[in-house]
Amino acid sequence: MDRARLPCQRMYYPLTFLIHFNYKFYMGKVLARSINRATGYLETHTIPSGMEHAMSRQGIANSHMTKREFLKTCGASFCALCAPYLFAFPQTSQAQMAKKGLIKTKPSPYYTPLTGGDIQCELCPRRCRISPGNRGFCRVRENREGTCYSLVCGNPCVIHLDPIEKEPFFHVLPGSKSLTVSTSGCSFRCKFCENWEISQAFPEDVYSYDVPPETMVKRAVQMGARSIAYTYAEPTVFLEYILDVSSHANKAGILNVIHSNGFINPAPLRDLCGVLDAAHIDLKGFAETFYQDLCSGNLAPVLNTMKALREETIHLEITNLVIPSKNDDMATLREMFLWIKAELGADTPLHLSRFYPRHKLKKLPSTPISTLEKAREAALSCGLEYVYIGKVPGHEGWNTYCPQCGNMIIQRTGYMIGEMYITEGRCAYCGNPVPGIWA
Ligand code: SF4
Repeated sequence: MDRARLPCQRMYYPLTFLIHFNYKFYMGKVLARSINRATGYLETHTIPSGMEHAMSRQGIANSHMTKREFLKTCGASFCALCAPYLFAFPQTSQAQMAKKGLIKTKPSPYYTPLTGGDIQCELCPRRCRISPGNRGFCRVRENREGTCYSLVCGNPCVIHLDPIEKEPFFHVLPGSKSLTVSTSGCSFRCKFCENWEISQAFPEDVYSYDVPPETMVKRAVQMGARSIAYTYAEPTVFLEYILDVSSHANKAGILNVIHSNGFINPAPLRDLCGVLDAAHIDLKGFAETFYQDLCSGNLAPVLNTMKALREETIHLEITNLVIPSKNDDMATLREMFLWIKAELGADTPLHLSRFYPRHKLKKLPSTPISTLEKAREAALSCGLEYVYIGKVPGHEGWNTYCPQCGNMIIQRTGYMIGEMYITEGRCAYCGNPVPGIWA
């Protein structure tokens, strides 16, 4: 699994950072950097340039430690960083234990009763007809005696503290932490899914936590998260849970953000918009055939969702995963860029993301970086103002540039924020407004 880590892996990020940090102490800056490059750690765990400068000023970067000192520092740092993670979780061991097959139900308002006890789910455009005792396409909505039930209303299988840049929101509280949440289930069957282990699973087949909405928000506050991100599999299929959590989150001053395939009907989308601060939609391609063949979905409803989000003035960012030979045709990409500009606005941030072989498309190569650069050039020449290259850390396409004066206004190193020149939502150099949520 790439983006969605199992709960037991939640210490991976701080642990690897600490070992890396102390290793740099021990081995010296130059040697560590060359090993970094060789192992690919530079991708997400590079020490920001500001810290390197500080270390250098204090003579730390060139200092040497004994092996004993190195291990002691590792241990102490590990304990210090682990403490908030360990103590932030609920104190009852029962609440902390993930259980296989945990189901938390809630009747859904999004369905129509049909004859013979059947129901039609109205949550997404698939509009599944579900006979008694059966489930819809997404595997998490069931007909119980003529009533539609969500089976994932309080039993997330992933809860993880992440930098919000990882979602990837680049224009929402840069540098802040987000509590990321997911249940199993999805309304699509993407052959290139990064999280297929949970998106294509029944809730009975995954290990889930029992987390009532108010506990989720308490956890977010305790862990210092500024937002809760509903993400990883497909959050619209656990909409009832989102609505419950978000009502508590709003009261606690925590933002609600979603990363979704955008495949949702207008009525539930209106309910979602009522609680949402920002949305990140995967625009997986710009051809109906692509959606049908590779996702078992449809393009038109996704476009409608993005237009509705804009009309509701929800902050919107878009990711397009560029897959070699599947959706990397430059003419179609240009068509997509022009549509985004005309329908959503030139200032809509667009992430052109690199494909890596996975799930059912393991035989395809990764997207060449030159293809992403060409696509970015095309998007900028079509008039889009904020175009990023995703999943190529260290590329200049990870930074934010002011479309008016051309200055770099947010510098990113991996998922960390370096320098930022945005004052009250405007470029600090020329005053041009930058779309997003900045405070
Ligand atoms: S949400 Fe699930 S059950 Fe409802 S229509 Fe979509 S795929 Fe079918």
